[in-house]
Amino acid sequence: KKTMYKNFPMVPRVIFGKGSFDQLADILLPKRRHSDAPFIFLVDDVFEGKALVSRIPLLFNDQIIFISADEEPKTQQVDMLVGKIQNDYGELPSGIVGIGGGTIMDLAKAVSILLTNKGSSSLYQGWDLVHKPSIYHVGIPTISGTGAEVSRTAVLLGPQKKLGINSDFTTFDQVVLDPDLTQGVPKEQWFYTGMDCFIHCIESLDGTYLNAFSQSYGEKALELCKEVYLGDLSAQESRDKLMMASWHGGMSIAYSQVGVAHAMSYGLGFLLGVRHGLGNCLVFQHLEEFYPEGVRLFKIMQHKHDIGMPEGVCSQLSDSDFQTMIRVSLSMKPLWENALGPKWQEIITPAKLESIYRKI
Ligand code: NAD
Ligand code: ZN
Repeated sequence: KKTMYKNFPMVPRVIFGKGSFDQLADILLPKRRHSDAPFIFLVDDVFEGKALVSRIPLLFNDQIIFISADEEPKTQQVDMLVGKIQNDYGELPSGIVGIGGGTIMDLAKAVSILLTNKGSSSLYQGWDLVHKPSIYHVGIPTISGTGAEVSRTAVLLGPQKKLGINSDFTTFDQVVLDPDLTQGVPKEQWFYTGMDCFIHCIESLDGTYLNAFSQSYGEKALELCKEVYLGDLSAQESRDKLMMASWHGGMSIAYSQVGVAHAMSYGLGFLLGVRHGLGNCLVFQHLEEFYPEGVRLFKIMQHKHDIGMPEGVCSQLSDSDFQTMIRVSLSMKPLWENALGPKWQEIITPAKLESIYRKI
């Protein structure tokens, strides 16, 4: 049988460096179609009233929409934003700019797709269901780790499932990597989201889908994570390196897959709304039998930075709650296959999953 290789889009333009955010006006100018076609800035509401907002290069009828990242992005939220933008303007915007963490990155990607593709965003959750190009969209991360700035997916919580819009039109047209934007991130969040990157590396490098393409990015990202979380860097170096770790970690999984922690974290996220970074950490700490060296390093990093983790998260859950998490988790077939090989179902039974969830 002939192997069919995937032909992936990459972010075609990226600018990196402290203070690079201030070049945004010049970057957007040639993309402005005319004065009635605005740029819409979707901005994490943690920046409301902060200096960063006054640096956003507003022109003509551009608009800033502040968005809370307290909950992970939902299909319904995307549909509402698209409706609002269509209602506010007579024509399509020149582009969408997302400024925030993975939550805002995914919303910006999804909104830019749904402005040109009809119906609810939930229709496009899955693989390659988007057929019309999105509008121009720019990602500006303010916290490092998810790799959402490079990936070809926009993960959304829908009525039936938590699943990404995976398509060639999802990937950003432009990314601005300004490490200084991550300055205000609270320490615990810095750890949880950074560990998302660390776990991407471990799951990619230990997976059966591994290939030289993924390995080259995964090894670099892992090395950078170790420098950031185990080394002795200056604050500036640490911000710079974590931003590039996130980028390489995202590139690594583009051509492979994530694994056990992500598959189980999706169950926690769906049932309890546990956020991605924390959910991964909650699961990962109990995965020594799958990732012994990764879990050992994780615990050293957690200890070094004195990071607490909630306990008893699953202690009050009913049997049917466990069944829901197990169903969501087991539905992530490519993740399990990557983690454990084609015979994964013989290794990871519902009873096995329940025993791990019960420890959380
Ligand atoms: P987030 O976007 O949910 O933000 C976490 C918290 O940090 C929020 O409270 C936010 O307000 C705050 N924050 C962000 N930047 C800040 C700053 N500079 N100063 C102070 N506070 C700041 O977190 P995340 O971990 O980056 O993203 C998680 C989301 O990313 C999940 O929804 C997950 O599904 C998604 N994700 C997507 C991909 C992808 O490839 N598309 C990959 C991994 C995760
Ligand atoms: Zn992740």
